[in-house]
Amino acid sequence: MDVPVWQSENREEQAIWIVDAHCDTLQLVRRGTIDFFVGHNQSHLDLPRLTAGGVKVQFFAAFIHPDERTKGVARALDLVDAFFSLAGSCDRIRPVYCYHDILQLHPGVVGAFLTVEGGEALGESLGVLRMLHRLGVRALTLTWNYRNALGDGVFVTEDLGLTPFGLDVVREMNRLGMLIDVSHLSPRTLSGVLNESRHPVLASHSNCYALCAHPRNLTDEQIKAISSAGGVIGVTFVPTMVNTEKPSIDRLLDHIDHLANVGGTDCVAIGSDFDGFSGFLPGLKHAGELKNLAPALIKRGYNDYQVEKVLYGNLLRLIKEVVG
Ligand SMILES: [Zn+2]
Repeated sequence: MDVPVWQSENREEQAIWIVDAHCDTLQLVRRGTIDFFVGHNQSHLDLPRLTAGGVKVQFFAAFIHPDERTKGVARALDLVDAFFSLAGSCDRIRPVYCYHDILQLHPGVVGAFLTVEGGEALGESLGVLRMLHRLGVRALTLTWNYRNALGDGVFVTEDLGLTPFGLDVVREMNRLGMLIDVSHLSPRTLSGVLNESRHPVLASHSNCYALCAHPRNLTDEQIKAISSAGGVIGVTFVPTMVNTEKPSIDRLLDHIDHLANVGGTDCVAIGSDFDGFSGFLPGLKHAGELKNLAPALIKRGYNDYQVEKVLYGNLLRLIKEVVG
């Protein structure tokens, strides 16, 4: 193995490579409450801080709240428009649609990967799914916390799992080469996806239930099921999902250790959820502090190769395998 990319001296501007599987910044861009390019924002993430943090590829989720109901498709398109306003108008950030696009990124340029969070975006139509794919959407979180036309989210009282339409969506996403994001899914919906999908899945922003009993976190059984099929899990910085008493970067590293122990280092990735929660995780307060992760992992005993896998290698492998 050559020198890891994140510490290669040949790279002109970036000392660290990170691929972050989830943020909610598009909503702030749409509202006009941040200046994404200039920085100095109260939010978690903008272009100067992505660059300072060593982020090479950022997933941007178009989040569709269940209250949007019949307006979900319009809201999705509105946020896709916000995506192109940030990733299509500046030479320091470019949209990336596949593995090859990511490899072609020049030093100092951030890749923006478009995703949708919430199947309400589909308006119960596979045609809309295909059109979103044509617009560049490469991942879909099937549900948020509640029930929708695809299946049940994690906060439902009676878990009925995937619907027949949800099954069709899984098959069509397999065919199109889209990442199926299982974060937020109820246990039955998640196992339904794992039974049906021909491709490994992504849990873009979830931690370990064994360490923090939050309903959004994954049980050891779920971690094993996702990882044994080649799937990837992005640890998230939502403080209440890290630790109920004293959330910190150290407690987040405990989740990384646990994922590595239960599912192996090939399943571990980063999924900050920046701008998707209030407050911050000490040690990883904003995207600029992502650079703290590599030294913290080394201190925990991970070798260079394992650090690479966690920070970007596993997600890139998944993109290469599923999206192409
Ligand atoms: Zn979320």
